[in-house]
Amino acid sequence: MKIFKFGGASVKDAESVKNVASIIKNEGAIDTLVVVSAMGKMTNAFEDVIDSYYHKKEDLPNKLNYIEEFHKDIMSSLFDKTDEVYKEVDVLFGELGWFLARNTSQRFNYVYDQIICFGELLSTRIVSGYLAKIGQENVWFDVRNYIKTDSNYRDAKVDWDLTEELINKKVDTSKINITQGFIAANDTENTTTLGREGSDYTAGIFAYCLSAESVTIWKDVPGVLNADPRVFSDTTLLEQISYEEAIEMAFYGASVIHPKTLQPIERKEIPLLVRSFVNPKEKGTTVSKGTMLEPYIPCYIVKKNQILVSISALDFSFMVENNISFIFQKLHDYQLKVNLIQNSAISFSVCIDNKFNKFDEFHNELNNQFKIDVQKNVDLYTIRHFDDSAIELIENKGESLLTQVNKETSQIVIKPN
Ligand code: ADP
Ligand code: ASP
Ligand code: MG
Repeated sequence: MKIFKFGGASVKDAESVKNVASIIKNEGAIDTLVVVSAMGKMTNAFEDVIDSYYHKKEDLPNKLNYIEEFHKDIMSSLFDKTDEVYKEVDVLFGELGWFLARNTSQRFNYVYDQIICFGELLSTRIVSGYLAKIGQENVWFDVRNYIKTDSNYRDAKVDWDLTEELINKKVDTSKINITQGFIAANDTENTTTLGREGSDYTAGIFAYCLSAESVTIWKDVPGVLNADPRVFSDTTLLEQISYEEAIEMAFYGASVIHPKTLQPIERKEIPLLVRSFVNPKEKGTTVSKGTMLEPYIPCYIVKKNQILVSISALDFSFMVENNISFIFQKLHDYQLKVNLIQNSAISFSVCIDNKFNKFDEFHNELNNQFKIDVQKNVDLYTIRHFDDSAIELIENKGESLLTQVNKETSQIVIKPN
């Protein structure tokens, strides 16, 4: 069995849905399981709904209307009004409305997952309905009956044994199956999610559980490039990458592959193909056992909008175990993700992501015990397989604040010009 994954950009409008359907028809006619994300930027639109639900109830009808119009507009170009898919989609909007009207829970993360899941439920109904419309038989299923997790809403952990058992029992491997990425369920049938951008990971979970022959993630780029094309104008396609190298790149922030996707498929040596849904004839990138990197060239990964913090003790103590463990506990408490660490006798520097906007609270709490220097809005560049000219290229992007060099990896914090 093959696993395909299509992300939001590949199903952002009616033409894109037609393109996805033709790729599925041409490339995955039988025994393929297709994982689909929410259409376009719909997950963000559902986050707006959640925000209004909590903070500005009067905006809720407009926000919901926008989402319904978006999907119905796409559907009007793909279907006839009498097609079954209209009923299926209306059932979903009914369920969403029911939840919003009846919910009494104040637990934000729980509520978030019960609402956000509709993006994937809607997109898969539409893709499956369109395949049927063009005569491509397929099976739609609700992934929440297959992937089981704990109850850590918004970042749930997979129960691998149960998931593997359910998937093997229930997936019809002789058919084209269409299901949702990103969402799952706990043991009380509540919806959970695997973390933003988690649909690649869903594809990895199915591949692992079914011992699939390959996983293909279809992207808006030719494959994995040696740098993010949104940041670098001159990029090269990487034809072959080893699992280890791809894990490193994804871990440092090459967002083309979700970092959790690779380890399960590496365990079973299932190849991961990253291919272009724009040019589906092209080969793209293969991630597999074997050659580390082909071509072997420097690869650049950038994390924008970081905060560089240098911390030293006010009581003249050294920055060793006790101080460092205290600081790390606080970083964890305030959900500040550390992307680089550098330590000297009297100063401890970290480059952090302030994703949850809790940095100021962290700063206030540490301020009376430590001297803290803060540089906001800096960029963290990671270069794998660097050489002198690669480092020079990055250092020309602004003022270089900190450089760390390991055997294969150089990381540079830059204050942009
Ligand atoms: P999906 O539609 O599956 O969610 P993403 O938007 O998450 O896809 O991933 C594709 C994007 O990843 C590309 O449009 C590109 O901007 C970005 N990207 C970041 N680093 C790389 C890289 N090294 N190679 C290719 N694309 C990259
Ligand atoms: N739709 C989800 C998100 O935007 C999952 C995904 O696309 O991977 O985060
Ligand atoms: Mg994505």
